[in-house]
Amino acid sequence: MADTFCGSCGVKLKVSDKACPKCGSRDRNNLVGDGGVGNEALKLKAKDPSGFVERKLKLKLKRAGQTGQRAEERLEIDRTSNKETKKLHEVREQNEEGKWEKVHCTEDSFPAKRRKK
Ligand SMILES: [Zn+2]
Repeated sequence: MADTFCGSCGVKLKVSDKACPKCGSRDRNNLVGDGGVGNEALKLKAKDPSGFVERKLKLKLKRAGQTGQRAEERLEIDRTSNKETKKLHEVREQNEEGKWEKVHCTEDSFPAKRRKK
């Protein structure tokens, strides 16, 4: 069972509450209790010897809101090239058979701003 709390003032909400009875906020915080898988996050940074951050990786594991299936979000920043910064955003969801499917994938690149000398 998941308990729901107001994301603004922290008061416990009933499932039927659309807005917080105390402060009127619609922000929600869901706390996953026994049996559930909580959200996990992982952040990695790769630096070169001078301290310049060449790569950043952010991984988030969570449950997809509507289906309750597990989902994995991955954000990668790649600054190993001197000309551009690459950004990769990928979301994968686990389907009923336990297979991971890519549900979202975007790749962007920007002109490099800050580089090692
Ligand atoms: Zn509130």
